[in-house]
Amino acid sequence: MAENTIPYKIYLTEEEMPKAWYNLRSDMKNKPAPLLNPGTGKPLSAEELSPIFCEELVKQELDETTPFIEIPEDIRNFYKMYRPSPLVRAYCLEQKLGTPAKIYYKFEGNNTSGSHKLNSAIAQAYYAKKQGLKGVTTETGAGQWGTALSMACSYFDLDCKVFMVKVSYEQKPFRREVMRTYGASVVPSPSETTEVGKKILAEHPGTTGSLGCAISEAVEVATRNPGYRYVLGSVLNQVLLHQSVIGLETKTALDKYGIKPDIIIGCAGGGSNLGGLIAPFMGEKLRGEADYRIIAVEPASCPSFTRGTYAYDFCDTGMICPLAKMYTLGSSFIPSANHAGGLRFHGMSSTLSQLYHDGYIEATSVEQTSVFEAAEQFARVEGILPAPESSHAIRVAIDEALKCKETGEEKTIVFGLTGTGYFDLVAYQKYNDGEMTDTIPTDEDIAASIAKLPKVPE
Ligand SMILES: *Cc1c(COP(=O)(O)O)cnc(C)c1O
Repeated sequence: MAENTIPYKIYLTEEEMPKAWYNLRSDMKNKPAPLLNPGTGKPLSAEELSPIFCEELVKQELDETTPFIEIPEDIRNFYKMYRPSPLVRAYCLEQKLGTPAKIYYKFEGNNTSGSHKLNSAIAQAYYAKKQGLKGVTTETGAGQWGTALSMACSYFDLDCKVFMVKVSYEQKPFRREVMRTYGASVVPSPSETTEVGKKILAEHPGTTGSLGCAISEAVEVATRNPGYRYVLGSVLNQVLLHQSVIGLETKTALDKYGIKPDIIIGCAGGGSNLGGLIAPFMGEKLRGEADYRIIAVEPASCPSFTRGTYAYDFCDTGMICPLAKMYTLGSSFIPSANHAGGLRFHGMSSTLSQLYHDGYIEATSVEQTSVFEAAEQFARVEGILPAPESSHAIRVAIDEALKCKETGEEKTIVFGLTGTGYFDLVAYQKYNDGEMTDTIPTDEDIAASIAKLPKVPE
């Protein structure tokens, strides 16, 4: 290997770690559309948001002008327990593929929650504590967010109530136990413990739940109990802000070796890891200082960007949350039951939606069997067992590297390896047994949920 001047893993010193988050919106000419009050159709004010979210987080949510927001020292100290995360040169994968492309991945799976979600969980728990709250409520699908939040809440001694999508609660008992070990209470959703849960159960008896439905329950509990607020692990502007730590570290590490990426790839569920990874690079692109190809990868069974509609929609199934303008499949869209790979939210971050709409981001969708094929190929040469979500990005990174093999181009590809897949072994088992199938929603399926989009005055 001629290039061993670049180490396998590029780490930063504590001194080089970011001291402020970067607010991508500050550099956007077309700002993301504001959240609307579903009752009045008017933009939500800080006063209206404060019964749901912590005060400081409401400020961050609405701030579209401040470029850098200081990371409080308590959060920086917590980050030091598991950050900086390594930027890894995938020499072995390159060799296996026989590609002239240079592949790097930013690995966020090196903490007990196993994903990047801890970066925002610790920030949200910190602000809840600072406000003197008793606790927070949230939803979790596959369980990574619930686990991250449980860890963050136990660190700051906050109560944590997690509504876990019922199908995951039953299929991933080990995740549930990790959360309980950190002191969280975990309720399968939909449940009889909330009004909205009872209503959903009456309308759809036997439903195995959805993220949108768990969000409705968590918001209800937060707004009805004094001293509680709701926190969300993706989609919101504040979450993208906290996740910018991923991109800032990546950029510092690349700059150290004078490396400029050509392509940056991330999986997209609600958009938080992608938004965080690309933040400083997109900033340069928006300011006209540099150009990068940025690719969002989503599952073919839940294709918000590639087949969704850019419109105001509810973030939850119960239709009690604010309306966000985003690429959406409709809040009543539920991915096919055989979909195993996460990234099952019907909508997408409004910041990324605006950037996609304005042509700054490309998007592509991939089928889950090809995602697991890439996951296995990666695990066998790079050692890490990737989360199915992350493997969407691996799939496209491999595809781009193979294109370079054909053309002989030495492109530099950076992708986000958001987490590990130890709790996803039922899905891996299906793949290994040859029982995994692909289901792609029909145009009619998508049109049916799009028809139920809320009517919003222009
Ligand atoms: C939650 C999660 C995602 C998707 O969420 P985004 O908000 O789109 O980043 C991706 N990978 C892992 C490992 C996750 O836990």
